[in-house]
Amino acid sequence: MNSSPGSRPPSVDTALSWPGIQALIQCHGRPLVVDAVRAGLQRWRDALISDEQTLLAEIGHTLENWLAPTFKPVVNMTGTVIHTNLGRSPLPPEAITAMTAVASGASNLEYDLESGQRGDRDTHVEDWICRLTGAEAATVVNNNAAAVLLVLSALAPRKEVIVSRGELIEIGGSFRLPDIMSRAGCKLREVGTTNRTHTHDYLDAINSRTALLLKAHTSNYAVQGFTSSVSESELASIARQSRIPLAVDLGSGSLIDMQRLGLPAEPVVRDVLAQGVDVVTFSGDKLLGGPQAGIIAGRADLISRIRKNPMKRALRCDKLTLAALAAVLRLYANPKKLAQRIPALRLLSREQTAIEETATQLLPALQSWAGEEIDVDCCSTLSQIGSGSQPLDRLPSASLRLRSQHANKRKRSRQLRELARQLRQLPLPVIGRITDDSLLLDCRCVEDPQPLIAQWHIHRFQVEPAT
Ligand SMILES: *Cc1c(COP(=O)(O)O)cnc(C)c1O
Repeated sequence: MNSSPGSRPPSVDTALSWPGIQALIQCHGRPLVVDAVRAGLQRWRDALISDEQTLLAEIGHTLENWLAPTFKPVVNMTGTVIHTNLGRSPLPPEAITAMTAVASGASNLEYDLESGQRGDRDTHVEDWICRLTGAEAATVVNNNAAAVLLVLSALAPRKEVIVSRGELIEIGGSFRLPDIMSRAGCKLREVGTTNRTHTHDYLDAINSRTALLLKAHTSNYAVQGFTSSVSESELASIARQSRIPLAVDLGSGSLIDMQRLGLPAEPVVRDVLAQGVDVVTFSGDKLLGGPQAGIIAGRADLISRIRKNPMKRALRCDKLTLAALAAVLRLYANPKKLAQRIPALRLLSREQTAIEETATQLLPALQSWAGEEIDVDCCSTLSQIGSGSQPLDRLPSASLRLRSQHANKRKRSRQLRELARQLRQLPLPVIGRITDDSLLLDCRCVEDPQPLIAQWHIHRFQVEPAT
């Protein structure tokens, strides 16, 4: 406690009567300002403040802090294009326009304008999913994890689901297939081994309790060497003979052949269904380049069972997602323009020379931000797709590279972490990656360098005092 004379804090009521505080109440409302005043007075009692002027300033700062959005745009310079922690796919302007159009008022979300009766929210996307995948029917839920959960609980409640041991996947953020399986009320029947699973493994496991064969795309890892797995078409023929449906979780999946964009091959939803798979699930915000969603497409009778499951109601998408997804799907109508119009595909197919040009443009501004003590240059690097798509493939890219001049390795690494931290604290936070002895800022996802150049010219890296 500060017991020096004249430093007794005012009462809450006294502080609230000050004109400065009254003005804040006008602006931000009484309850929030009262909380900020209480916090300020506590700091006075803790002897961190001892006069009214400072108290007022601190209350102002506290309110600014509380009211500032915590959720804001950042610049993804990690080199991972579809980065789950950074919000995955950027949306095209058509999707933003579609969301805005239905956001502020009533819409025909679940209303059939023809009959004037209740409609189904899936109608806004189902026809387009079917057109683009060849599926008979489709439905959408909150994300692909929800899609898998829903398929399992609708098609195999209290029954056995056969999965290869090589495909018992865990996707980042605690999505583990065996756990999802038990939550869905299914019994997991593992077959084969981690590296090899054969047709007879499936055939031997099928019995009267089997309700579903499930194949999961091993998106975030690869089993290499002495391996063997059963293809979709072989599994489809087993499924048909045994009259058991076959579901495939594609993870990312793609509506087009990625190789046409010069990218590594990824399973194409239409091809997978054409091989006789009954139901597929895939994400809306991975390679599709749309909003977070889980798409379920396939046989009409199975989709109908899935849609009727009560879990569908709990996992459904909201109107903004559906508006964005519907707009993105329509962009797929013209395959020639896709690489331009879908931002995720545009970033992924960006030429290395174009990325190098961006890096060159950014270099002087970054050097000015970092100051004389830091070495900054451009270098060739490799970016990756992210979100489990083709985990082993890399795309040639260009990065800005920051290096510390300290002779001591520990100090260098500490300075790199400090550089990375201060880049994250900028008004437009910049997220890079530290590798070996440098901090890399991959320029693949920077299409407009101007805002970055502006902030790097305004702000300065604060060099830590030597310790
Ligand atoms: C990403 C992924 C999921 C989870 O999808 P979300 O849209 O993130 O919920 C499930 N399965 C596979 C194979 C995946 O790659």
